[in-house]
Amino acid sequence: MIHFFCLPGKLSVTAVLGVAILIGNTGCNSSGQKNSKGKGSTTNSSFMARSGPGAPITYQNGKRYIFLTFDDGPQPPGTNNCQSIFHEEGVKATFFLVGFNRNIDAYRRRIADSLNNSYPEFITANHSTTHGFRDNYRLFYSRPDSAVADMLKAQKDLNIKLKIARLPGMNTWASAGQVQGPKSSLTVTRALDSLGYTIIGWDLEWQFTKGSVPKQGAAEMAAQINKRFEQKYTYQPNTFVLLAHDRMFARPQYADSLRKFIAILKQDPRNIFETIDHYPTIQNREK
Ligand SMILES: [Zn+2]
Repeated sequence: MIHFFCLPGKLSVTAVLGVAILIGNTGCNSSGQKNSKGKGSTTNSSFMARSGPGAPITYQNGKRYIFLTFDDGPQPPGTNNCQSIFHEEGVKATFFLVGFNRNIDAYRRRIADSLNNSYPEFITANHSTTHGFRDNYRLFYSRPDSAVADMLKAQKDLNIKLKIARLPGMNTWASAGQVQGPKSSLTVTRALDSLGYTIIGWDLEWQFTKGSVPKQGAAEMAAQINKRFEQKYTYQPNTFVLLAHDRMFARPQYADSLRKFIAILKQDPRNIFETIDHYPTIQNREK
């Protein structure tokens, strides 16, 4: 399935999202590590405790903030591999979970709980209960009431702490009345925004082929991210949101590719990995 979207401002981009959601396919489990740079709050926040999820950070000049986001989990063993790799490499990441995937069995529930309890290394966010009525996006977005109910159920079932969501199959952004994305998704988006949800899209996807095989290699993905920063071609300045899927990193060779990707990015001292609760549209909303 292909979705087109535009980046804000003058920049316009076409993103291709090949979403193929598979209830119970692969996944990344985590217990990561952190990068405590940039921590500390300077603004009042209605979010949570100062050190908890959502506590604002201060962005540092000259740094580049990378938000690694992984969708559709928990999908072991990919989720587990992601969790281990991020932990070993000391980088933060975000997992947008799917309620149905969590509820497949006790093992997946434990993975989701583990992710929920891993802040500040990892944060979990809402990626719906049914993944858009099991990838039936046309139906999902044509029934806004049902779609919103599906998202709200996931928030509860997944025990997501903050109102941060990514819509199934749509690169849509929303925060405090600012909405952008495919037209078909906007009614649902506005409804969620009015309920206090920030909707997070992505700047670039690490794509996959059938069988959830990553299309790009580690060096290629890292180069693409560098290019986006250099061209200032991202939704928010000095930030980059990567979309990937846990299940892509189930096999050892692809898990290794993820490890290499992280290693390449870490070589640049400007790069800071953060969890999505520190993304500008979320922090600014809470000021
Ligand atoms: Zn998804």
